[in-house]
Amino acid sequence: MSGEKGAVKTALVISAHAADFVWRCGGAIALHAQKGYAVTVVCLSFGERGESAKLWKQPGMTLDKVKTARRTEAEKAAEALGVSHLISFDLGDYPLRLTDEDKYRLVDVIRDVQPDFMLSHSQYDPYNTDHMYATQVALETRMIAQAWGHKPGEKVLGAPQLYLFEPHQTEQMGWKPDVFLDVTPVWDRKRAAIECMEGQEHLWDYYTRVAENRANHFMRNSGGQSGGRNAKYAEGFQSVFPRTVDEL
Ligand SMILES: [Zn+2]
Repeated sequence: MSGEKGAVKTALVISAHAADFVWRCGGAIALHAQKGYAVTVVCLSFGERGESAKLWKQPGMTLDKVKTARRTEAEKAAEALGVSHLISFDLGDYPLRLTDEDKYRLVDVIRDVQPDFMLSHSQYDPYNTDHMYATQVALETRMIAQAWGHKPGEKVLGAPQLYLFEPHQTEQMGWKPDVFLDVTPVWDRKRAAIECMEGQEHLWDYYTRVAENRANHFMRNSGGQSGGRNAKYAEGFQSVFPRTVDEL
């Protein structure tokens, strides 16, 4: 990676666990990779304790074996999606915790990538506090990366949008999408990435149905029955910051 912002557009995903980026924004990753974006994914942990139940049910399982399996799955999924850089912080999960040094490491990544947009979890998640903690960390590190007084002389961050991807039980998280992205052209890549997550096979069809339902919302909001654009698969996002526009 280079700290100098070149012609290549970039995006940064901050994922609490190794698989979250696949279910929740795999389509956005594959679509932007196809458009020529360099997409960096940071997995703060492997989800080794909290999101690997199927692996733990196997006899003789150890934490190291689970982490290795989850790392392999994440690498395969990242490859299927066209991720440019997959960075595993390996900070542990349930609970996920970052020291200030860990946060500064993430700030370094943000400044290095200089993302055009960022993606992370919903702001509230009572079922999975690692998720909402990761979003808090994303906001905090985005803020530090913008600070001229943090490592003066480095290129500071502009103001990339932070999109919050769809949580597991939408309504309970207070998550309300204001953007729908048509990911039909890259659905095959997302489904291939989903199928890399062998430890969570129970979610494969669930997240396919979510994408089908969001495609219906895409169509309704792009004109509905008065000529809405058809979409078979879509992802929803909630944006944190206002957009600045020249025309409405
Ligand atoms: Zn997770």
